[in-house]
Amino acid sequence: KLSQRLQYILEQIPPDSVLADIGSDHALLPVAAVQSGRVIKGIAGEVNAGPLRAARKQVADAGLSGKIDVRHGNGLQVLNAGEADVITIAGMGGALIATILDEGQDKLSGVRQLVLQPNVGEDMLRRWLLHSGWVITGEHILEEDGKIYEVLTALPEAESSLSQEELYAPVQLEGGLALASDLLIRMGPHLVKTPNEVFFKKWRGEIAKLQSVLKQVERSELESAREKKEELRRQIEQLEEVL
Ligand code: SAM
Repeated sequence: KLSQRLQYILEQIPPDSVLADIGSDHALLPVAAVQSGRVIKGIAGEVNAGPLRAARKQVADAGLSGKIDVRHGNGLQVLNAGEADVITIAGMGGALIATILDEGQDKLSGVRQLVLQPNVGEDMLRRWLLHSGWVITGEHILEEDGKIYEVLTALPEAESSLSQEELYAPVQLEGGLALASDLLIRMGPHLVKTPNEVFFKKWRGEIAKLQSVLKQVERSELESAREKKEELRRQIEQLEEVL
């Protein structure tokens, strides 16, 4: 059975897709996606030998070697342009996901949807999407086994009914606060508008971390600590306003 995290990612893939799952590890996602009938052909990309072997075995054991191609290589290099219409990249840092997409720009033509699950550094990934012509059309945050995950779905700007301007337009919250784009990029433009319990938990946790850093800095006599303190207080205040 798939984890809730991978199951949610699977459900974002449109029916009849050709899926490329990059950093596929055991190829759990492409195998389940083909078994569900949602994906007609899958490509599992892996850069490391161990996970690559695990992916090959998983695909063979499922009897899906004719439908899922397991390929060895870095990022999108395993793809031919126009081959896949959906790309999933999950379980890595947002900066690494952004680098993989950026280095593989030439392979993105013809891709109609990205489903991305950064473990950390979501802001870096959102910034890459914003500057590279991909509109985030959906965001979800979930908790599983004590870990919090975010899943972002993005479409090419030309195919999205939502524009980047609309996505990152200031949001009026109940208290009247207009959220600046920087904060939206950090917290997630959709998540901010439709927050769930996990969202609140994540950001209360982030505030607690900032407060503990602030306490340490407050003990310092150094002149440079003053600016740092102000910056931390500003950040805490901003986040508290949203929650
Ligand atoms: N995507 C699976 C998931 O979400 O459950 C596996 C996540 S696993 C933590 C990350 C995988 O990405 C590892 O198997 C690693 O070898 C692979 N990986 C890391 N960098 C990569 C790259 N540049 N290209 C392809 N695979 C990569």
